[in-house]
Amino acid sequence: MTTPTIQEAVAEIRPDGRPYIDGEHVDPASDRTFDDRTPITGEAVAEVAAGGPEDVDRAVAAARSAFEDGRWRDLAPRARGQALVRLADLLVEHGDELALLTTLDMGKPIRYSSKVDLVQAEISYRWYGEAADKLYDAISPTGPDALGLITREPVGVVGAITPWNFPLMIDAWKLAPALVAGNSVVLKPAEQSPLVALRVAELATEAGIPPGVLNVVPGFGEDAGEALALHGDVDAITFTGSTPVGKLLLQYAGRSNMKRVSLETGGKTPNIVFADAPDLDFALSAIGFSIFWNTGEMCVAGSRLLVQREILDAAIDKAKELAAAWRPGNPLDPKTKAGPVVDAEQLDRVLGYVDTGVAEGAELVAGGRRILEETGGFYVEPTVFSEVRNDMTIAQEEIFGPVLAIIPFDDEDEALRIANDTRYGLSAAVWTGDLARAHRMARRLRAGTVWINNFDQADITAPFGGFKESGFGGKDKGIHALDKYTNVKTTWINLGRGGR
Ligand code: NAD
Repeated sequence: MTTPTIQEAVAEIRPDGRPYIDGEHVDPASDRTFDDRTPITGEAVAEVAAGGPEDVDRAVAAARSAFEDGRWRDLAPRARGQALVRLADLLVEHGDELALLTTLDMGKPIRYSSKVDLVQAEISYRWYGEAADKLYDAISPTGPDALGLITREPVGVVGAITPWNFPLMIDAWKLAPALVAGNSVVLKPAEQSPLVALRVAELATEAGIPPGVLNVVPGFGEDAGEALALHGDVDAITFTGSTPVGKLLLQYAGRSNMKRVSLETGGKTPNIVFADAPDLDFALSAIGFSIFWNTGEMCVAGSRLLVQREILDAAIDKAKELAAAWRPGNPLDPKTKAGPVVDAEQLDRVLGYVDTGVAEGAELVAGGRRILEETGGFYVEPTVFSEVRNDMTIAQEEIFGPVLAIIPFDDEDEALRIANDTRYGLSAAVWTGDLARAHRMARRLRAGTVWINNFDQADITAPFGGFKESGFGGKDKGIHALDKYTNVKTTWINLGRGGR
């Protein structure tokens, strides 16, 4: 397979960057647009509407009427489920195009856009679609004179605000459970990666999801995002993104209609390797995947490598070797394993953290520079710091790039103390052959997911979400995700002959 140029790739996709409202693309309220630039070369690949409050109003109104007239929520659950399964099928049918949109927009290597993002999105729509008619409500154990029905109902209009690092997949983790529960949705995708969401909305209509049930308003966070989160007719916000924006969303809810907010936010995952790891070579080789995959632009990135002191030198050597192996290249080349960071701002941010690491006394042992500048794209060398203390900025702040901080420890208590000494609590990994230690660590680590002797293994059946400033308000994935998109109602029926 030859690697297409950007122009050839863009010719394949012909994106429509206008809002998608009530089952079709519509002209935005204002003529403000922005150039959607690919991080591969910095070239513009589409002109996208910079949606604002009026577009959000229109999308929320469409979502509200679709909800109130019952065109979706009053369908039998099986019918809603079948539409989601059809959407999953359409994702497969249009897989090449959706993968290309993802890669052009945010720079992920094409092999992962199709083998990971696309596949995981498809699984999400299919899994929730298939679950639709397998969920039961409950009856409370009252006495004989009453029937207490405990039912779940959709919350109404859900506003989804999503990031750019896995646009197809994370949107699917929000949309599939929200839709299967009978809600209407207004999605505001990240400004760095709006194209794939707009295309999925078209496919949703083709799959039989009625107009108005899924609407997409592209635009910037401080315009379209804020307008959605402040909207008085939005019943819930489901968010994945940074912790500072998550905190703003809580304020917006308080300032408006106290809408429900669920947050999946940042992370600073400790990847903890004990000298007794059952397969030390495997544990150390997982460093590459944990921090350099997806260019480190992962909420769960294993950005802090905690290593028991007796294997510290081996870990540093391995990290250096893996940094060289994960050197980025053109993401449109199917052989490429690592791409650019998402945009010029992110490039500056990552390089700024490299400077801070050096200034605070950490030792830069690999990478740290911009490369492939002649392409116009935003490529950074995979970077490794040793001699890191956990109170340094690079060990505390989420860098969201391919930058690893190696921190030594002597024993289990110290490993645990360092691991938990962070405001984040998204995930943690522990590599050890001692079963009791593995369980002790898993219990005491303050993180929403703990991986034992693996990094980032996951499945749609297992809920995902963080503790502490990594978020709260419900989980993505699994049946647990439905809690975010449903209200529990009690209906009390008097069966007694008298009654109060
Ligand atoms: P971001 O917070 O900058 O943006 C996320 C979304 O919020 C975008 O759609 C953006 O337009 C919108 N937004 C920005 N400002 C807003 C405002 N004032 N009001 C309303 N919406 C606003 O995050 P990002 O840079 O797109 O993504 C990276 C972040 O996402 C990282 O912190 C990462 O850890 C996090 N993330 C978390 C998870 C998780 O599941 N916990 C998964 C992936 C990414």
